[in-house]
Amino acid sequence: MQPAPARVAANWTRGPIFPTIKLMPLTRQQALDYFRSDDLIGLGMEADAVRKRLHPEGVVTYIIDRNINYTNFCTEYCTFCAFYRPLKGKQSSEGYILDFETIYAKIAETLEMGGTGVLMQGGLHPDLKIDWFERLLRGIKQRFPSIWLHCFSASEILAIAEYSDLSVRDTIQRLRDAGLDSIPGGGAEILDDEVRHRIARLKCSTADWVLVHRTAHQLGMRTTATMMFGVDETLDQRVNHFDVIRRLQEETGGFTAFIPWSFQPKNTALGGRGWDEATAVDYLKVLAISRLYLDNIENVQSSWVTQGLKVLQLGLRFGGNDVGSVMLEENVVRAAGTSNCTTEEELRRIIRDAGFVPRQRDTLYRTMFLN
Ligand code: SF4
Repeated sequence: MQPAPARVAANWTRGPIFPTIKLMPLTRQQALDYFRSDDLIGLGMEADAVRKRLHPEGVVTYIIDRNINYTNFCTEYCTFCAFYRPLKGKQSSEGYILDFETIYAKIAETLEMGGTGVLMQGGLHPDLKIDWFERLLRGIKQRFPSIWLHCFSASEILAIAEYSDLSVRDTIQRLRDAGLDSIPGGGAEILDDEVRHRIARLKCSTADWVLVHRTAHQLGMRTTATMMFGVDETLDQRVNHFDVIRRLQEETGGFTAFIPWSFQPKNTALGGRGWDEATAVDYLKVLAISRLYLDNIENVQSSWVTQGLKVLQLGLRFGGNDVGSVMLEENVVRAAGTSNCTTEEELRRIIRDAGFVPRQRDTLYRTMFLN
């Protein structure tokens, strides 16, 4: 059995754009050693120690929000995606684009149920250009000025820019001016172009994903970073992913959180090739090593959507300090055959039973006005 490598001390520093944290970062070799180590408990304790330094008050946060998928049409054909429908052919009859009134009604319902934000994402559709998104965002903010709009992954923003003949900077600026508040980390999968080419040939490259997030940070917007693992990537490629995110955070400080989840193979082309889903041990290792490697990102999320509530709870002792959303609607993971569900009360009980204080947060991880 290989012991987990030792870690050391902490101090605070400032990033060039947003304030950021810096403990003592893990080296690549240490991250690889942790992945190969059988000492799961030792790894968990190391990650928990970092979590405790960053969040000494023992609070675990959650948000109440809703996922709205404005369209499931998409041109990218990612092999891991069960959600999209092509624009042409037999399956196109199952495609939709939500009308604005339907989206407004979903947001009104979200606010009525105590929600503070909306995570809005969709497929890539060449007919949806910048003016469609501007009208949508303005329409939402005029009706619901308090709702936080955390919308459009990097690949959507790149597509809007391309279809509208705009630069990435101008696209983000126009979306922001119309009401976009922050950008989710979706579309990252594994930030290694060999993996991306294998599982999502048409989707944006690592450099393009980074460009969108860097530009958003430079424009003063916060974003999250995600990772979808378990697609036969090597351990080196997982560390490449961590490295891309850590370096951009060193440069900008703009990421609020890191959110890893495992590939859900059901109903996907990739799953049809006989894929085994990542195990709980694999998930907990990724979570803990991300907490150690991404020591300059304040929040790491333990996920119940793909892992279920019991693994989520364990994840709070493997570096997680947030449990994500009491989601009022989720379609993408559900399309891949995974339908874990929960309530606010259940999440609070799970957090308390793990020895933490549950607290509702907003999209920027602020808790002070909500409890
Ligand atoms: S993951 Fe996103 S970009 Fe890829 S096919 Fe699905 S909806 Fe389209």
